[in-house]
Amino acid sequence: MEGQAAVKVDLPFFRYHPDPVASGSIRAAAEACACCERDRGWIYTATFYTAREVDGHFCPWCIADGSAAERFAGEFVDSIGLDGVSDEVLHEVTRRTPGFHAWQDPHWLVHCQAAAAYVGEVGYAVLAARPDALAQLRADMRLDGWRDEAQLEQFLNHLGESATAMLFRCTVCTAHLAYVDAS
Ligand SMILES: [Zn+2]
Ligand SMILES: [Zn+2]
Repeated sequence: MEGQAAVKVDLPFFRYHPDPVASGSIRAAAEACACCERDRGWIYTATFYTAREVDGHFCPWCIADGSAAERFAGEFVDSIGLDGVSDEVLHEVTRRTPGFHAWQDPHWLVHCQAAAAYVGEVGYAVLAARPDALAQLRADMRLDGWRDEAQLEQFLNHLGESATAMLFRCTVCTAHLAYVDAS
């Protein structure tokens, strides 16, 4: 849709989640933001962790400038997994970056000692087009105790059905990496 593409250009840029519309974390909606109370035409629908009560959803701008996280003392992304990154990056990922929908508690991947950028939830076909991610996933699963190679390949081949892969791209070397999410 032409109009939608034009508006999308105006969305704030999230270095660690470059296309939150494609990933489904932000969608077009005529809804007032729970922070700025304005209807900006786009609303965030994924995770936010806070002890405060939040009446509704946030607009992408209140995520990008940190005002939603500050006002409600919360985080969009859990810091689990974000080991070895600078405090500044940790702050940007947890408090100024949209999280994403997942079956299990989402976690962020790190590569080259930097937070990776979240691309989206993918199945085997997309993963197969990124052999670096597939190879890394295979190695991780072997470490997790998958001994039977045939079983492992069968599992990977069915990603996108009951289990999916969360795909990231390294913000330093651009390698793709992924982890498995299952219902
Ligand atoms: Zn807002
Ligand atoms: Zn890297």
